[in-house]
Amino acid sequence: MPGVYHAFLGADPAAGRGPRERLREVFCLPPDAICTLKQVHSATVLPFEPGDGGFPGGPEREGDALWTAAPGTGVGVHTADCVPILLAHGELPLAAAIHAGWRGLAAGIVEETLRALARRHGENVPASLRAVAGPCARGCCYEVGEETAEALLSVPGGCDRLRRGKAQGKWMADLQAIALSALRAAGIPPDRVEGLGPCTVCSTGFHSFRREKSLTGRQLSFIYICDSLHGN
Ligand SMILES: [Zn+2]
Repeated sequence: MPGVYHAFLGADPAAGRGPRERLREVFCLPPDAICTLKQVHSATVLPFEPGDGGFPGGPEREGDALWTAAPGTGVGVHTADCVPILLAHGELPLAAAIHAGWRGLAAGIVEETLRALARRHGENVPASLRAVAGPCARGCCYEVGEETAEALLSVPGGCDRLRRGKAQGKWMADLQAIALSALRAAGIPPDRVEGLGPCTVCSTGFHSFRREKSLTGRQLSFIYICDSLHGN
């Protein structure tokens, strides 16, 4: 991905130092360069606007996918067990970040994002994208009930990624694999769709809502379009 930074930031061993501070230290990016939304498990896709996730005050607009076509901006997503998905175009300065939990996947957040990008930048956009689905709750640990399993079965490819759990009426769901199936089904070439990172529930290097309950922090995953793409 020339001209693009992308990263999945895990838990920081230094107490009190959040992922946004690490943006400055590790990537030399000002924290307000990465825009985020107030995530609500929806299928709402929004284009970047100046002020998204800016400081102070944090994110205000509600939605679960944010895209940008502006060099010098980035888009990010906070997750603890949901799937962070990052998209980048091979030639255009175009990137997106998607928050995809089971509700968002079932609501079609992946398909909606691809549709929004194609509407704005042309029907061929999905074929020119690369996608990465990051660390999230996976089939080893993510037990769900019948209602959630039924919702996930509606995601393209979802039925291959669910297996019966040990307890009656329980299923084990691999959210990353379901997200990858949805990305391929939405038109991104299979060889440009990649899963990255382990299960957040059983990997203590990552925040997990299942493991840590309401005390958990969040990973920040982001993608940033460098100014240098345009020679600035
Ligand atoms: Zn696990």
